[in-house]
Amino acid sequence: MELVEEAPYRFRIERRDTMRVPGVVFASRALIPDVGEDRSLEQVANVATLPGIVGASYAMPDVHWGYGFPIGGVAATDVDAGGVVSPGGVGFDISCGVRLLAADLHRDDLPRVREALMDGLDAAIPRGMGRGSVWHLTDRAELDAVLRAGSRYAVERGHGVPRDLDRCEDYGAVGDADPAQVSDRAVQRGQGQVGSLGSGNHFLEVQAVDEVHDERVAAAFGLRAGQVCVMIHCGSRGLGHQICTDYVRTMERTMPRDGIQVPDRQLACAPVDSAEGRAYLAAMAAAANYARANRQLLTEAARRIFARVTGGGLDLVYDVSHNLAKIETHRVDGVERRLCVHRKGATRALPPGHADLPADLCPAGQPALIPGSMGTASYVLTGVAGAPAFASTCHGAGRTRSRKQATKTVRGQDLRRELESRGIAVRGASWRGLAEETPEAYKDVTEVVEVAEGAGLCRRVARLVPLGVVKG
Ligand code: 5GP
Ligand code: MN
Ligand code: MN
Repeated sequence: MELVEEAPYRFRIERRDTMRVPGVVFASRALIPDVGEDRSLEQVANVATLPGIVGASYAMPDVHWGYGFPIGGVAATDVDAGGVVSPGGVGFDISCGVRLLAADLHRDDLPRVREALMDGLDAAIPRGMGRGSVWHLTDRAELDAVLRAGSRYAVERGHGVPRDLDRCEDYGAVGDADPAQVSDRAVQRGQGQVGSLGSGNHFLEVQAVDEVHDERVAAAFGLRAGQVCVMIHCGSRGLGHQICTDYVRTMERTMPRDGIQVPDRQLACAPVDSAEGRAYLAAMAAAANYARANRQLLTEAARRIFARVTGGGLDLVYDVSHNLAKIETHRVDGVERRLCVHRKGATRALPPGHADLPADLCPAGQPALIPGSMGTASYVLTGVAGAPAFASTCHGAGRTRSRKQATKTVRGQDLRRELESRGIAVRGASWRGLAEETPEAYKDVTEVVEVAEGAGLCRRVARLVPLGVVKG
């Protein structure tokens, strides 16, 4: 795969064969995936063949191999020119995302309560592959309410405060969700999992603001140096996974009818403006709402523990997903177009002044929340005006080693001991799960966010460090 450096931190994959647009990879030389081990750049080129794609097939600095689309991929298709939607461009964990909460607690005051806090969170946060969850919805009508109204429904039912909704992407619920497009199997899988983290890459982490890069924006976000925070990373569990599986299968069948050819079956897709395209987007929106309700319920569980142990509260900084397709309007070649923007392992980062931001965030831009690993830093970023890639940035550090490879390099027990010796409390769900998530398996998150900033995708606002992790 030949990469042409066209600007600092920006490499181009030239158009060839059936590619409709070039590929653009935001990276430093050190971050470019090793083509021998990771085929994500080939995937960037494959995505460039999708009907209706505009601009380029983009890769964020944390790009790595994924199902069909790379993780860290952004692609926008023109809805009014036959543009397609592809479930693989969203991923199996639909609307997986991150929320950050700010505690009214200084890190200097944490040590005396830390063990009680971690034990409380350990007991209160359902996780692992098991079926424990904050909510057990046996009633399909109630699950449908979650699918339609996401965090809004959770808050209506007393799980949160109205302000939480102002600090959620889409104010807590994606419109146009239709539970009727969600299969019974997906519903079954989702019913007992509302309010649960899921497996190893998902977590609830107690962190502290270690460095503020931009005082003004940090203050607008409600963050200051030394502050204790809680970061929650989880998604739509079995429900989202089943929806992705269902619609990949459907679209594999309808592609020949629609005259669509793709270089990889995992890129199965349908025109946005088709029965299958619309049905997928309606089911995807339902899963997105499920994921938001999930994060809302886990927030409430964490709030109860913080209130009991510290007497203080947790204010939502922001909640944003990194696996989603959205219909958005962007200017392409000087013309406003309605696009289906796929962000898979990529975070929307709206610039200051954007109409979709709540008034208090408008001058600062949208917080983009970037987890690093349980042993390194995580970051808070903000959007910038005129950014390439349809107002998107990275979503994490990005894997360099598969889960299986990771477990060969370290034992969970040893990893826990090492983290604890560095002052990071660990409450895992399984030793294997912990080893799979060793910080060694990830790229250097600081380099990733520096490159994202250098490429003009976002700006850094604050750096967070881990103090305790509750691992899925
Ligand atoms: P993904 O959504 O791709 O599974 O994960 C997003 C990012 O989360 C990963 O690229 C990785 O950088 C980060 N991450 C995974 N586990 C942890 C953790 O325990 N703590 C923190 N802070 N970040 C993590
Ligand atoms: Mn996920
Ligand atoms: Mn995720």
